[in-house]
Amino acid sequence: MDVADVSGVPTWFAEHLREGGIESLYPPQAEAVDAGVADGRSLVASIPTASGKTLIAQLAMLSAVDRGGKALYIVPLRALASEKREEFSAFEAYGVSIGVSTGNYEDSGEWLAEKDIIVATSEKVDSLVRNGAPWVEDLDCVVSDEVHLVDDPNRGPTLEVTLAKLRRINPNLQVVALSATVGNAATLAEWLDAELIDSTWRPNELRTGVHYGQALHFGDGEKRELRVESSEKPTEAIVRDTLDDGGSTLVFVNSRRNAEGAAKRLANTTANGIDRDERDRLEAVAEEIRAVSDTETSEDLAACVEKGAAFHHAGCSSEHRSLVEDAFRDRLIKTICATPTLAAGVNTPSRRVVVRDWRRYSGDVGGMKPLSVLEVHQMMGRAGRPGRDPYGEALLLANSYDELDELLDRYVWADPEPVESKLAREPSMRTHLLATIASGFADSRAALLEFLDRTLYATQYRRGSDGSDNLERVVDSTLAYLERNGFIERGDSIEATNLGHTVSRLYLDPMSAAEILDGLKGATDPTAMGLYHLVSRTPDMYELYLRAGDREEYTMLAYEREAEFLGELPSEFEEGRFEDWLSALKTARMLEDWASELEEDEIAERYGVGPGDIRGKVDTAQWLLGAAESLAGELGLDSVGAIREARKRVEHGVGEELIDLAGVRGVGRKRARRLYDAGIETRADLRNAEKPVVLGALRGREKTAESILEAAGHRNPSMDDITPDTSVAPDPPTERESTPDSGEDQASLGDF
Ligand code: ADP
Repeated sequence: MDVADVSGVPTWFAEHLREGGIESLYPPQAEAVDAGVADGRSLVASIPTASGKTLIAQLAMLSAVDRGGKALYIVPLRALASEKREEFSAFEAYGVSIGVSTGNYEDSGEWLAEKDIIVATSEKVDSLVRNGAPWVEDLDCVVSDEVHLVDDPNRGPTLEVTLAKLRRINPNLQVVALSATVGNAATLAEWLDAELIDSTWRPNELRTGVHYGQALHFGDGEKRELRVESSEKPTEAIVRDTLDDGGSTLVFVNSRRNAEGAAKRLANTTANGIDRDERDRLEAVAEEIRAVSDTETSEDLAACVEKGAAFHHAGCSSEHRSLVEDAFRDRLIKTICATPTLAAGVNTPSRRVVVRDWRRYSGDVGGMKPLSVLEVHQMMGRAGRPGRDPYGEALLLANSYDELDELLDRYVWADPEPVESKLAREPSMRTHLLATIASGFADSRAALLEFLDRTLYATQYRRGSDGSDNLERVVDSTLAYLERNGFIERGDSIEATNLGHTVSRLYLDPMSAAEILDGLKGATDPTAMGLYHLVSRTPDMYELYLRAGDREEYTMLAYEREAEFLGELPSEFEEGRFEDWLSALKTARMLEDWASELEEDEIAERYGVGPGDIRGKVDTAQWLLGAAESLAGELGLDSVGAIREARKRVEHGVGEELIDLAGVRGVGRKRARRLYDAGIETRADLRNAEKPVVLGALRGREKTAESILEAAGHRNPSMDDITPDTSVAPDPPTERESTPDSGEDQASLGDF
């Protein structure tokens, strides 16, 4: 089918696609058109990776806009929001306006009312709906990308509830749900009252198999030799073999540490396969990587990249990740060793994919657990670049003949699992029921049940096998919890209390709010440590894990600083609770180190984490402390001031005395310290400062000095003809500056 033949789609679109080399529709895309995707019909498209789901979404959105409507594209990850924005920005030349909203939860997003197409994460859409953004009522088309993630215990419920709300607000809403191939696509279609496209078509052939011994064993029975030299590991042999053929390899492993280790080893293999020109270009990429941050992760990554290999995991900052992805797409980097984050949708196809680890540590089972078929198939689906490779190959690795059999059975020949709603999990139910009540969406038990009947949970599990109503049961127990903790009141109708409204607006798990309120009660003058610990032990903070030896260290610290904790230290005999307390303490001490101006790489080293992790914890702590501040304010507690100070220290990563200075745009933690040491202690000092002193403290950087003075409100910030007072900056000006307050581009809340 030619795109120009699709009725309902603006005429320029066919032209635009043709310029991008797309002449005719792929078969699943043509099926989608036949099913009415360009005429406002709802659709679930369950098709393999790289089979052109985005175009299906575009057909739906552009036809909706052409009819005078408005479309929303929901992405599962922030990183994907910017990727989509770039992809859709080409439409602006044709008069279609695009808005992206991933920012903080309290942004009401009114400016989005003007936009034709809006891109946002599901968390952001949820918060916009809660805060009553008026344009939500004007939506005609909603696309949900990677909808199989409704299965995710942490983030799935938000997506599920958000889609249910959007459909309730707009009864005629077109929902286009894009999914990986899953076991129960028909259930998703039933849930969304949508047509179903369930296809296994791919633009290029994907061959899947297992490497064992000296050969590749494909699922279709073919066997091909791939020798592993005695000095090599199987992954090295595969990467070498692919490289000999001019191709690149994606290697999936199960942890960050393994990703880094594998990349370092594989760098020796790829180093042999790059030419002089590539080496020069790789060195330039490595330089850019080093310039992102001063940490060991950054240095290690750059060292690998120089040799043509890279690692990619959630501990890398987002700038690192996109530099690596770009260089891989440009075929400069020959292999990426990644944790499954990369499989979640970022577009980096390669000739071969190796799923090296098919088990991953799971806290739930306290040991290694096999990956799901869905996950492994998603990773495998990255193999083969359409238009470039005739086919892609995806391989698992076996150590024994038995394992070869097992892997063929378990993954190569297996169908992906069905997706299952996780809405009934307690944190999800608590959060979403409170939000639904607080936003006035439902004011009675019956109305709640009626609304929740539109969720996937209801489609799948409402009726128990004994005929009982599961939905009623979880709703009743959750309402009881919310009432007991003072978040709702029940009379003739159900209403949120003031506290309940605040908690919902702050986007907190009600249990986090209860923990925070409990801790703050009776604490008149809490220390920063006490507050960091308090927010670290709420269910909204992912705590740092305790490693071998940590238990002893943090137990000692717990007793040493017992007086600072808000709430009773649990007894060592309460295994689980005590352990959680110590994990929270480890997290809290990391925050304290950050707020005491410890260098980023020292923190990374001390806690065994990457810069992205530090940023993630800092962002979460900032949000939770902000929430604590609002709650304390609501209840008129004395601790508000102390909480604000602790929050500002975390925000800027500085000691108390630097808060004022570090808040000036462009200053940041390191420069604030240098200015302070040069005698400039406050924003007001900066406004009236001697310019040679400022320039000296900023190590002669004129542009920086000018913009900082301007931000501070200096009458004449110009540094023309100013000689720096070098007596105030004893260190040579060679140190690379990092600006920790450029939070926008760092991995943070919403990224995983
Ligand atoms: P998915 O989201 O299904 O993983 P994408 O939508 O990202 O896949 O598409 C994968 C690639 O295929 C993109 O580079 C896209 O430009 C290309 N593509 C999509 N549809 C067509 C088509 N009909 N003809 C040629 N290339 C296409």
